[in-house]
Amino acid sequence: MGQDTAGQAGRALKLLNSQELRETPTTGPSPRHTTASTPRSPLNVDLVDHLTRTVGEVAAHARAVAPHAGPLPERVEDLYDWYIEHTGDAGEADRRYRDILIERHRLEHVMRLGYYEEVRKHPCPECGCWGLMWDPAGNRALCSNRRCRTPDGMTRSWTLARLAAQKIQRTEIWRRNAT
Ligand SMILES: [Zn+2]
Repeated sequence: MGQDTAGQAGRALKLLNSQELRETPTTGPSPRHTTASTPRSPLNVDLVDHLTRTVGEVAAHARAVAPHAGPLPERVEDLYDWYIEHTGDAGEADRRYRDILIERHRLEHVMRLGYYEEVRKHPCPECGCWGLMWDPAGNRALCSNRRCRTPDGMTRSWTLARLAAQKIQRTEIWRRNAT
């Protein structure tokens, strides 16, 4: 796992954690939106949940590997560097788990920020094409290859967890072959 991925994940997390995005949307009738038909966005509650889950997942694994890891870093963008620092001596399985988790978080953060083209950097796990497209409503990446279908004829779709695991696996194979 490169420091690049951790750095990108940290920067995306910092953006998501900005006050404008986090601040709770209006809970009562807003003077600017007096019509009852204006839907109230659940986005920010959802975002706060996402941030809490993100930090919780990292802290839980870091402390399982390194019980004396100490407090979380003060700046949210340092979360992943802190994570790597305290899991540097972990066994292979824990390092792989960490690398997949960081890559999955990075993808989750950038999708929330709207950088959907980021899924195009991952080949489809089934057909290998570079034509994945993000479906925000379904929260999955769809393969745009018309010949790449499930046995019942549906478009294949992938979770970010699956794409992250594939990327780490490919990186490991590449590294093994390069030595
Ligand atoms: Zn495909």
